[in-house]
Amino acid sequence: MGEAIIKLRGANMDIDLATPKDQIIWEQDRCPWNEAENTDEHKCAIKNISICRYFCGIEYLDTVLCSYPHQNPLIKPSQEF
Ligand code: SF4
Repeated sequence: MGEAIIKLRGANMDIDLATPKDQIIWEQDRCPWNEAENTDEHKCAIKNISICRYFCGIEYLDTVLCSYPHQNPLIKPSQEF
């Protein structure tokens, strides 16, 4: 029997937890790195540009898995940036 969910590589994601409250209508947790540095500069994934080193993926539906301030356990030594 086949899997109901397949994995597709290479998504070009644009994800952040830094949108100002007055620009969204849903509850949003703040990025802990932004909290620690009192900024909004850190984004989980910026389309066409970068992915945060602490970004560990997304849990359905829209929950960011974040390892900050610890090393990302999902990054293999050959993938470090
Ligand atoms: S992955 Fe974590 S530390 Fe990185 S931008 Fe997202 S919430 Fe902030």
